[in-house]
Amino acid sequence: MPTPIDHRELYRLPWSFSDNAIAWLEPTEKCNLSCEGCYRANVDKHKSLSEIRSDLECFAKFRSFDGVSIAGGDPLMHPQIGAIVRMVKELGHKPILNTNGLALDLHTLRELKAAGLEGLTFHIDSKQGRPGWKNKTEVDLNELRLQYAEMAAEVGGLSCAFNSTVYEDTLRYVPDLVQFAHDHIDLVHVMVFIAYRAALIGGEFDYYVQGKKVDAQPLQYSAPATEQRADISSREIVATIQDRFPDFTPCSYLGGTEKPDSLKWLLTSRLGTKKKILGYAGPKLMALSQTLYHLVKGHYLAYAPPKVLAMGRSTLLLSPIDTGLRSAATNYLKYLSRDPRRLAERMYFQSITVIQPADVLPDGRVNMCDGCPDITVHDGELVWSCRLDERLKYGAWCQVVPWDCSVTKPEARKPAPASRPTTVAPA
Ligand code: SF4
Repeated sequence: MPTPIDHRELYRLPWSFSDNAIAWLEPTEKCNLSCEGCYRANVDKHKSLSEIRSDLECFAKFRSFDGVSIAGGDPLMHPQIGAIVRMVKELGHKPILNTNGLALDLHTLRELKAAGLEGLTFHIDSKQGRPGWKNKTEVDLNELRLQYAEMAAEVGGLSCAFNSTVYEDTLRYVPDLVQFAHDHIDLVHVMVFIAYRAALIGGEFDYYVQGKKVDAQPLQYSAPATEQRADISSREIVATIQDRFPDFTPCSYLGGTEKPDSLKWLLTSRLGTKKKILGYAGPKLMALSQTLYHLVKGHYLAYAPPKVLAMGRSTLLLSPIDTGLRSAATNYLKYLSRDPRRLAERMYFQSITVIQPADVLPDGRVNMCDGCPDITVHDGELVWSCRLDERLKYGAWCQVVPWDCSVTKPEARKPAPASRPTTVAPA
């Protein structure tokens, strides 16, 4: 039986609007795939280098940050992706490419590394219509994930993360991906699971913009309310993982803007060798690493370098301050006592992150991530990347209003025709 998570026992990540670990840059709207859960229309449109510089200046005006997630669309569709990576690096940030990987080869990756790339987040899941991988399961796709992880390792010095959108019918595969991450703990540094979300049409809510009712169907992330669940929670994803791995223990989180106990970003840090997971770091280690990094660098940490993550054994020296590390150290001693040759096995740190994007509460309030890391720039302002389409389509945010059944009878509401979003999913 999974243990219920009490957010007060976890470390609340100190990220805020103005002081964060990450910023989210979108240099292009073009993509070479059509993911079901995507948040952005696939348009053959790139920003110029001067527009990108001005986006980066806008981030810098409003927030301190460590890494820049270069997303899109797919960022490899931008003809000047090398120059973009170089620009981010020269401005003093860590460039991280958020890509589906389709347009990536070893030569391009080497060039991007030479331009300053520090990491990759590959979005791979079974609802992308990926050429050569159609009708494959999440488990089948581990073969592709491994190819990308090996490519990143061959170039070297790059953080390697995988994210996948979790749908009602793919939730059951999450533990298989967690197992894959363990099997390749030397190559895979972060796994991210993003619960599928959509603006539901024909459900319990109406959408208004500046006081006027609008049809939400043009939104890239709209979907018929009857189609599939759009309310999978982080707790549910963790419970699914704990069914297979009962010791799995998250350590830190971001709450919701409307509900402090929602687990919008839920991070788990585990420690292990390729053969055995030895334990899970507790909240104190994350608190220490974020605080020390901020003291030294002036902003919070995003994407620890692979060489730091490969120093798992040294981290055990911090066991006196962290209960999770203490129990990992005990497990390690037992593990060694059974076969001292295991001392030669390298120990790694790995993160598993679960993201629960925007939730609509019964009264229509939208519960966003409190301290949203994936904030982007629109019209000189910082805006949630997961809801940018509202600004693009209507020029303002949508207000969600529970419909008044005393005015509109349920049978009078027409069901919406099916509409599917395209391109990569948001984080
Ligand atoms: S963009 Fe949306 S889902 Fe992503 S971190 Fe921000 S609020 Fe959360």
